[in-house]
Amino acid sequence: MPASVPNWSVPDVFEPDGTEELPPELTSSEPSSEPPGVEPAGPPRDLTTGSDAGGAARPGGTAQGAATKRTDVEPADLSTLLSEAVRAVGGTPRDGQTAMAEAVEHAIESGEHLAVQAGTGTGKSLAYLVPAIRHAVAAHTTVVVSTATIALQRQLVDRDLPRLANALADSLGRRPTFAILKGRRNYLCLNRVHGNAPEEPDEGALFDPFAASSLEREVRRVHEWASETETGDRDELVPGVSERAWRQLSVTGNECLGAHRCPVGADCFAEQARNEAGRADIVVTNHALLAIDALDERPVLPEHDMVVIDEAHDLVDRVTNAAGGELSGNAIKQASRKCGRAVDEEVADRLNEAGEGLEFLLGETEPGRLRELPEQLAAALSTVREAATACVSALGPEQREDVETGSARKLALAPTQEIRDTADRLLAAFDQPEQDRRDVIWVSAENNRAPSLRVAPLGVGGLLRERLFEQRTTVLTSATLALGGSFDTLAAQWGLPPRREARPATDTATAQEPPSDGSEPSWVGLDVGSPFDYPRSGILYVARHLPKPGRDGLPEAYLDELTELVTAAGGRTLGLFSSMRAARQASEELRQRLSTPVLCQGEDSTSQLVDSFAGDPATSLFGTLSLWQGVDVPGRSLQLVVMDRIPFPRPDDPLASARQQAISARGGNGFITVAGTHAALLLAQGAGRLLRSASDRGVIAILDPRLSTARYGGFLRASLPPFWSTEDPQVVRGALRRLDEAAANR
Ligand code: SF4
Repeated sequence: MPASVPNWSVPDVFEPDGTEELPPELTSSEPSSEPPGVEPAGPPRDLTTGSDAGGAARPGGTAQGAATKRTDVEPADLSTLLSEAVRAVGGTPRDGQTAMAEAVEHAIESGEHLAVQAGTGTGKSLAYLVPAIRHAVAAHTTVVVSTATIALQRQLVDRDLPRLANALADSLGRRPTFAILKGRRNYLCLNRVHGNAPEEPDEGALFDPFAASSLEREVRRVHEWASETETGDRDELVPGVSERAWRQLSVTGNECLGAHRCPVGADCFAEQARNEAGRADIVVTNHALLAIDALDERPVLPEHDMVVIDEAHDLVDRVTNAAGGELSGNAIKQASRKCGRAVDEEVADRLNEAGEGLEFLLGETEPGRLRELPEQLAAALSTVREAATACVSALGPEQREDVETGSARKLALAPTQEIRDTADRLLAAFDQPEQDRRDVIWVSAENNRAPSLRVAPLGVGGLLRERLFEQRTTVLTSATLALGGSFDTLAAQWGLPPRREARPATDTATAQEPPSDGSEPSWVGLDVGSPFDYPRSGILYVARHLPKPGRDGLPEAYLDELTELVTAAGGRTLGLFSSMRAARQASEELRQRLSTPVLCQGEDSTSQLVDSFAGDPATSLFGTLSLWQGVDVPGRSLQLVVMDRIPFPRPDDPLASARQQAISARGGNGFITVAGTHAALLLAQGAGRLLRSASDRGVIAILDPRLSTARYGGFLRASLPPFWSTEDPQVVRGALRRLDEAAANR
């Protein structure tokens, strides 16, 4: 690490600063354009929406026509393939990329799971795709690649895989094939397009003529598109339509009639795409579908012997979401309306009344975790469960019935069964003493939505270990996996055993060991670093002199500090705040104080805001969670990332606090394992916004002094890249001013 502050008056070269030691000249030979594997541009979208059992895939461009995976040619060795791949994308060999590719190949050969941290610029997607493709072709099998975001999914399917397929075809003996796998809800259902299934009830449209006509227009447009599209993939409908319009013409896996019964099953987009996925070498999917494949008895993914989980830092959250459930009065009433078309009115009405009863009680209940079930709520849940069970019985099993009746029955049955099962799960959770419960239950009233009851597993390690690690070789990768310098924290959450001597499982929330045949999954962790020279390219500034952050918005001293920093940087600032309230407060205040523009999340679509920010170096962008992970702006428009506070989960977050208490009760360090891990992941992701290419320079400014003063500060700092660090505001402002001048003169 250089002893002196980086002095950026001349781009790419350090200059002596006073009497301090002259750091070595920076060599910056890397191109600023990113190789495959660099995180994709644009904000991520949540892939869990619409993902469901009964996944379906669309071909990724080359799977079509792949009648067989067999080839008689022995594929070239990894080193040759990697060189060809790197050459094809116009890159240069990188040590970290080579080390990662070799480790992935070792995992494939040995069956030992691999967790690999690969910093920005490593080209990690190429490092796992090349050995994965080689394995799929050589072993005539399929490798599944799972991502957390649609942005990365698109990068793989639209950019990386087509290039690799072309580059490696000769050396592999044939062109490798690939497909993208999505939940069935993402495809147009031709049975609904043909009018064989009833429309979804839409309350908003019932009472609002404007909403009704806009819904009608959207549905009409989807109908027109249905006669043109070859894939039925929602992502290809541009411009897109609202969720409520799409729901009218799509189904979940549980609502689908089944291709054998469906009159248009032979032409079904979802089925065709699923068949393509079954023939592909590489299938790209998302963590939610991966979780559903693990949870569901019916396989959703094609048969495969290896999984690569990219963006693995998000795995636990995505799997928790997929394994959770929700019950609201509105959902129950909607299910009752669907049942009303297929069963006695009286039976459906009972479900409706049960929904109204639950809705009323939830409105009276304080949001937050339920450690005990209030008597009235228990009675309301029992009523819901009984009414839903009666509807399910009345709907009956599959019968010889016409398509319209069968479709209506399926559309009513799927949500009603889900309501029955969720009510049952909620009630069953409280049958056990609190310390033995595996589910956490809470009343949620987020974002002005009507209150609902939510349930999520206390931990997902057991599930992952039993249904993932014990089934197939798994490679987990991300720019951030080694928290506090160790993979152990995340590994414990994934359900992987400690790598050293055995110890009690106190660091998993449930401390429950899954059933095992006695052989524990074995794994290794590898950090291949980053080609970026962090100590010479970035400064970590902790504003130690500021007061600790409070609960009543941003203190005046924080706003003063922020003003000084943004002024010194000449704009060029990404402000990452722990709440929208703080982001808005900072935006409003700094607009009064600064002459440079400040944009705030929520004022336009996030992608539009990021485009405006990237297009004008003087502009700053302030926002919250999605910006922490989703902004990729290389160059002079982003030279300062400010974080207002350490992003611990809120103390009243029901799931985080339950997990923390469960670990502490068993003698583990609940705070570090849960809150510390959460904060460390977000801090590292936020810091990752700064340096997006080898020539980028800048400052990470953390206004929360606890990063320097608290005991856990060391753990959090050890989770960040090795920036040059300072606590001196004068030093950091000087560096920012020099950087601003250098960028302005370029
Ligand atoms: S099989 Fe029929 S009901 Fe199922 S998704 Fe396809 S078109 Fe729709």
